[in-house]
Amino acid sequence: MLENKKKEQMKIIYPEALVAADVSVTVKEELLMETNPFEMAKKQIDIVAEKMGLNNNIKKFLKRVERSLIVSIPIKMNDGTLKIFEGYRVQHSTVRGPGKGGIRFAPNVNLDEVKALAIWMTWKCSLLNLPLGGAKGGVCVDPRKLSKEELERLTRRYTSEIINFIGPDKDIPAPDVNTNPQIMAWIMDTYSMHKGRAVPGVVTGKPIEIGGSVGRESATGMGLFFVLEALCNKINLDLNPQDIVIQGFGNVGGNIAKILYEKGCKIIAVSDISGGLYAKGGLNIDQLLKWRDESNYLKDFQGKGYKFVSNEDILTLKCDILIPAAIENQITRSNANRINCKIILEGANGPTTPGADNILEKKGIIVVPDILANAGGVCVSYFEYIQDIHSYFWKLERINQELKNILVSAFEDVYNLSKEKNASLRIASYMIAISRLAKAIELRGIFP
Ligand code: GLU
Repeated sequence: MLENKKKEQMKIIYPEALVAADVSVTVKEELLMETNPFEMAKKQIDIVAEKMGLNNNIKKFLKRVERSLIVSIPIKMNDGTLKIFEGYRVQHSTVRGPGKGGIRFAPNVNLDEVKALAIWMTWKCSLLNLPLGGAKGGVCVDPRKLSKEELERLTRRYTSEIINFIGPDKDIPAPDVNTNPQIMAWIMDTYSMHKGRAVPGVVTGKPIEIGGSVGRESATGMGLFFVLEALCNKINLDLNPQDIVIQGFGNVGGNIAKILYEKGCKIIAVSDISGGLYAKGGLNIDQLLKWRDESNYLKDFQGKGYKFVSNEDILTLKCDILIPAAIENQITRSNANRINCKIILEGANGPTTPGADNILEKKGIIVVPDILANAGGVCVSYFEYIQDIHSYFWKLERINQELKNILVSAFEDVYNLSKEKNASLRIASYMIAISRLAKAIELRGIFP
């Protein structure tokens, strides 16, 4: 109790007070990770490296990012003023292939967050055995405060600033938090204008009309479903009678909600940035998606028997399956004890801190880690990339079948290793991803 109170106070005065603070080392460490995802990503490497007995040099190599670029993005606003935004692109590893990873537009994006997200992309691509590395980008902006023209200018100038950093054989961006196919189209066009020819393979998640792939928009949601279904088969759990809670109602949360709802599942709570809605008997997801698509916040929806629930409280609702599908650092040492579900399926990247992982494991909650659960997006991005290179496009049935094959086979490998090593699904996923990458590093050697 006292520790929690101190923690809350320290959050306000962090980081100056952190070093001197009168709290235990574990609380200090957890606070550092909550405020800095890069620290969390490095801590995860340490944990797995120890379990695997990983060579120290490889560990050192994995904990640093290959390249980081910080760019300044001046934009003429519609009212005639000039605003300067800051943007980032980070390549963590290109050992197994070109960098791959989304671009997010959000008000609190910073370099360390982008570094952590790039690291997680490396593991994700390696776990699925895709011939790709890990990268990520971001712009520190609240896109809701921009007009469409301002958003286009911001996207084009950001692309221009990182133009020498990206490319179909270097680093291939994609959508992430608050970015979408239209934004990918502007990136593709800006890059193509600089090169003097159409280069669809520079970015994935594009509209279908300009080289995008069918099934890409719903891919992360589909992937979450395939992995959840594979887990349910393993543990003999019937999906339909389960109570499901979803934090986040964007591309990831909205799509998995839709897929599960269409399969007849009961979703008892969902949330967006404004907060969420809870109904014991289940929510009407079709109505809520329509409401969202008309640019409304969930908190303003009036449904019979629907109750408002905050983004914090939604995580601790009693349910069977909890799907955090918003942003990182949602399940921490502060609330992990109050999480009340059987399965956590990580739709977001990095929603659970290592400290929370320990608590959840003791409570017997199965956590399906982000790098496995939400890997459907990058998997279909890979399909889009190879379709662009070959100028030959697949049908939706093929996309979904190949997606299912890759994810179910990755799930089987992870599940079997977790049983063999008596480790969590997260540790097992990391072991597979890291050993594949470590092998590639050994084979290539360190230049010069
Ligand atoms: N942003 C997504 C992720 O975090 C997709 C990345 C991609 O398709 O490259 O996995």
